[in-house]
Amino acid sequence: MQRPIYLDCHATTPVDERVWEAMLPYFRESFGNAASTGHLYGWEAASAVKLAREAIAKAINATPEEIVFTSGATESNNLAIKGVAESYHQKGRHIITVQTEHSAILDPCVYLASLGFEITYLPVRSDGLVDLSELERAIRPDTILISVMAANNEIGVLQPIAEIGQICHDRAPQQQVLFHSDAAQAIGKIPLDVMTMHIDLMSLTAHKIYGAKGIGALYVRRRNPRVSLTPQLHGGGHERGMRSGTLYTPQIVGFAKALEIAIASQAEEQQQALTIRQHLWECLSELDCISLNGHSTKRLAGNLNVSFTGLNGQLLMLALQPIVAVSSGSACASAKTAPSHVLTALGHSPELASASIRFGIGRFNTLEEIEIVANHVLASVRSLRPI
Ligand SMILES: *Cc1c(COP(=O)(O)O)cnc(C)c1O
Repeated sequence: MQRPIYLDCHATTPVDERVWEAMLPYFRESFGNAASTGHLYGWEAASAVKLAREAIAKAINATPEEIVFTSGATESNNLAIKGVAESYHQKGRHIITVQTEHSAILDPCVYLASLGFEITYLPVRSDGLVDLSELERAIRPDTILISVMAANNEIGVLQPIAEIGQICHDRAPQQQVLFHSDAAQAIGKIPLDVMTMHIDLMSLTAHKIYGAKGIGALYVRRRNPRVSLTPQLHGGGHERGMRSGTLYTPQIVGFAKALEIAIASQAEEQQQALTIRQHLWECLSELDCISLNGHSTKRLAGNLNVSFTGLNGQLLMLALQPIVAVSSGSACASAKTAPSHVLTALGHSPELASASIRFGIGRFNTLEEIEIVANHVLASVRSLRPI
């Protein structure tokens, strides 16, 4: 049996062959612990980590000392939010975030609320973007942190992070409001510069850009302002005390390679994804029950998220499964039947939210594949529509 066409690149991506090749030596020959300073094995690992750290820092206009390796964006988000909350709670206990954030942001906030922090969850407009004047109005004298994702993992919309960074920056030095951004979906796909965008903390992960799962990083600003973080994992004091644990050399090397490739081919690859997405949308928009979720242009090139009025979402997913691997709008909750919190934040009813499909187009997709997918979606929707 033919395997379904993979169009779920917001969930994860395969390891690129070039990334795989770069990682291999560090599993066996050069397997040393980067913290072993007394022999060649340790030096090899330390030198590979150093080069990778430099490459990742350069990609976002940071310095190597500002990169903290973690197990992925979930851990980076937890370290950023809980680490800032613990470190700055005497200055204030108010945090601002957005209703459409990933659960790795929302759940740490719910946890902090149980400890006495106050969280403002900003709504979004019907196009999925935050309203900047609403964000400014939400800032209080006791606000210590604003966390807004760069690109949404369900509807792909790009939040105005440079503008949000500027708003936070303009308040200093009277009030220090730190700005964190979850850039798990944005890194490698859109230009990110922590200096010009005034980002103080930024979460990254490798497996959405053809790196391995289980490796990510948190950018932590060291100057203007110097961000202080309370560590969430204690131990050997790795990563300047911010994240203990033996560095995972092969994954780190692969992460840097994946990011280098993504940035070097960014313009070309995003143009290809855009062409494929536009073709898919052109084919599907002949259905009168279909609607696009999220802003039509301020979105990731490879993201198409659509809802089907009057359709049973679960039946549609079942019909699509043999041919195409996609997620319903409620990607992270697809095991449950709960409708996507992102789509309900756009104002969708639970029914419409669950009758939604997220297409995530990536590096290895072709127009020929999209032709097959589009035809299958059209046929499936028509067979399921009661009219
Ligand atoms: C995938 C994703 C995460 C989680 O990243 P992991 O590295 O899998 O922990 C967090 N935020 C966003 C926006 C994501 O897309």
